[in-house]
Amino acid sequence: MAQLITKKDSQTILDSFDMFLFDLSGVVWSGNKMHPGAVELIQKLQKMGKKVLVATNNSSETQINIQEKLAKKEMNFDIEDIYCSTNATIDYLKKINYQDKIFVLGQKGITEELEKNGFNFITAQEVEQQNLSLEDVDLDDEIGCVIIGTDQNLNYYQIGLTCLYLAFPSKKGPRLYIAPNADRVYPVGDRTIPGPGTFIAACQTTTRRYPTIVAKPDPFIFQLIQKRFPDILPHRVCIVGDQFDTDILFAQNSGIRSLCVLTGLTSESMILENVKSGSIVPDFYCEDLTCLL
Ligand SMILES: [Mg+2]
Repeated sequence: MAQLITKKDSQTILDSFDMFLFDLSGVVWSGNKMHPGAVELIQKLQKMGKKVLVATNNSSETQINIQEKLAKKEMNFDIEDIYCSTNATIDYLKKINYQDKIFVLGQKGITEELEKNGFNFITAQEVEQQNLSLEDVDLDDEIGCVIIGTDQNLNYYQIGLTCLYLAFPSKKGPRLYIAPNADRVYPVGDRTIPGPGTFIAACQTTTRRYPTIVAKPDPFIFQLIQKRFPDILPHRVCIVGDQFDTDILFAQNSGIRSLCVLTGLTSESMILENVKSGSIVPDFYCEDLTCLL
């Protein structure tokens, strides 16, 4: 019931869990700014022999980019311990045995992984380069799936094209619609900028379609983790995150516990308001991660 954690609770919390999943943005860092206690806590948990994993929604990064970024800040992770929405998307496509062509609105995090895993795809940007108006462009009948991600360079044409693929079925029927994540905003320093949820909303307004979300808050990533660690008990797993609608809801959907750190997108008053209204709340929350050192 949203317990505020201070230094005196540190040992109890650490003893309560065998596995910690760390969200990155708003928890470990925001843009170039590092949050207090995050690096030290990750190092401490690893030394204690806890299983420490990363679970991030950002679809513009791949596992390797993230591993390198973490290593530069003295946080060492095996590649398979980094769960990001791009890789989860590949796992999802494999799970449903998808083999046809894919249309992608998104940047290189997604396309790199699709390419590496042998998927046939075309990006909105590539279609745009053919210089055909939205009225004249031919919709490729081979495309059976639309993936919508984040792209800081996207424009009206690319969103329009995505809507056309969503609204008009191929000969085989309506195209699948997948989003690695639907974050409303991304923090950059002390500010926030639009996340892929905003582009999903634009397409939803036009086509009335909403994608299958692969990453948090969908429990799919935890299902992958459970497959890898079949002995892990969900109540001994804690996600350390900063957002209700991704991290905390993911914990609820996965049956695991959650610690919300106030260095990101959530404030104490937001938590207390949710407690009052009976909305989603974390099990624990803290000012910053130094309280667990
Ligand atoms: Mg976050």
